[in-house]
Amino acid sequence: MRYEDWHTHNSLCKHAIGSIEDYVKQAIKFKLNVIGISDHFPYEYLASYIPSLDQIPYERYAMSLNELNIYVTQLNQVRNKYENQIKVRFGFELDYFKDMDEVLNNYLDSFKEKMDYLYGSVHVLFGKAGIFAFDDSRFLNKYEEYTVNDEVYLEFYTALQNMIASPAFDFDIITHFDLPKKFDKRVEDKTLVLDKVIETLELAKKSDLTIEINTSGLRKQAKEQYPSEDIIKEMYALDIPILLGSDAHNPEEIAFKFKEITALVKSIGYNQLAHFKERKRSFIEI
Ligand SMILES: [Zn+2]
Ligand SMILES: [Zn+2]
Repeated sequence: MRYEDWHTHNSLCKHAIGSIEDYVKQAIKFKLNVIGISDHFPYEYLASYIPSLDQIPYERYAMSLNELNIYVTQLNQVRNKYENQIKVRFGFELDYFKDMDEVLNNYLDSFKEKMDYLYGSVHVLFGKAGIFAFDDSRFLNKYEEYTVNDEVYLEFYTALQNMIASPAFDFDIITHFDLPKKFDKRVEDKTLVLDKVIETLELAKKSDLTIEINTSGLRKQAKEQYPSEDIIKEMYALDIPILLGSDAHNPEEIAFKFKEITALVKSIGYNQLAHFKERKRSFIEI
């Protein structure tokens, strides 16, 4: 089979290496069927609404608003240039911020119709430790403000549930579904957190969302894809569609460990992966 990698970043977000064209060329070299370009949507618009956002270095998390046009122009250029060799699909990774979903649409709407798919993600919590970019190693000390790691997980799943339930937050795929494990900060009360996970999965199913199997966790301290095998089994039981993403921040990471992960999801029972074009989902056999 030819792999499809739906999750990549590029130098526009200022913490990834390589141009969009570099990712496309590498994906052609790896003989992929699809390369999805899904860079982080700007955080910049939030600064006028969330004064404490200046506590996090958001300029290094995403492109600026005036780079959105550059992004779309470059995407169109590479899609046309390489159309006989690979399918280039357009996406964004959207961060969910509570009560900011309406505001986001003011900036996103004019670009949305050009997109093939949208990822929804949570990287920032607004909870016990204040505004907390919990997957940024510069803020690891903030974990100390929680009594147990479980509290971080519960805040995270509450945020995911709010994201899923928000009528204004329009997206197709949930990415890195158990991101708080990134630094190997593990759950203590497994049943407590698993109950919340299942509640979140049921909401995702009700909204007919796809969940990504993201291989970047294998490159982090967690040493495990997002989400864990246990969660993928729950997803399979609920018949939730999946697809694969490497979350590459370097062209070399494209399709990272896809062979192993394809074998894993097949062993759980999956025989299809989701595929997106112009916000419509179809499936490929694996
Ligand atoms: Zn990133
Ligand atoms: Zn990403």
